[in-house]
Amino acid sequence: MLSMPATVAHALARVQERIDDTCHAVGRDRATVRLLLATKTRSADVVREALRSAPAGALLIGENRVQELVEKAPALADLQVTAHLIGPLQSNKINHALRALALHGHACVETIDSLELAAKLSARVGAGSPLVPLDVMIQVNVSGEESKAGVAPDRAVDLAHEVADLPGLALQGFMTIASPTLDERVARAEFELLRSVRDRVTGSGAAATALAQELSMGMSRDLEWAVAEGATIVRVGSAVFGARPS
Ligand SMILES: *Cc1c(COP(=O)(O)O)cnc(C)c1O
Repeated sequence: MLSMPATVAHALARVQERIDDTCHAVGRDRATVRLLLATKTRSADVVREALRSAPAGALLIGENRVQELVEKAPALADLQVTAHLIGPLQSNKINHALRALALHGHACVETIDSLELAAKLSARVGAGSPLVPLDVMIQVNVSGEESKAGVAPDRAVDLAHEVADLPGLALQGFMTIASPTLDERVARAEFELLRSVRDRVTGSGAAATALAQELSMGMSRDLEWAVAEGATIVRVGSAVFGARPS
């Protein structure tokens, strides 16, 4: 009966407990870790139900695909939630993504992995848009797997400074997807790598990057390790909503 679906509210409470327990164990203030619901494949109704079971503003939502973001944003706009794009952004989808993100209360694009993409966003976000300045994060490929999105760690520091200097964008921090490993040492070393990139950038003395403190890392399988390594946003899907249809 292990696979029997719990209600979303119950599963959400369990995830909150995992974050609470880890913060307690590692001596972190619980208020420094935010929970983002990874909503890919979930209907707007299910997302709404999850958001309703927490205090207003407590949870963020994250969409992977621009198409899903575009489809669900109008149905959730009344909630004025903070919405993050956590999947790849192709240049030809920038305008669609920006229009959909503007329907939400607040927005962030977590997946900046090139100066070219950041420059296009900067150019298109448009003066006078409610999104300006648009919050962005640099996605870093900490595992080195070829198939993974994100900039290489040794390029991430320079890219962060370049992105932070673009008009219309506000660099908030760094995002990664760790290896799908059950080896705690491997996963934690990858999260630690993202933190060291962040610390090099925020510690550089440059005003534009001083506030880029966010570390978006950790998912259903590894959120404890990510929180222990300093995650400020954990992105959780299946632990809240159940297994995704394959
Ligand atoms: C799906 C997804 C998550 C959440 O993954 P789960 O294993 O379902 O918790 C987090 N981050 C990104 C970028 C995702 O695509």
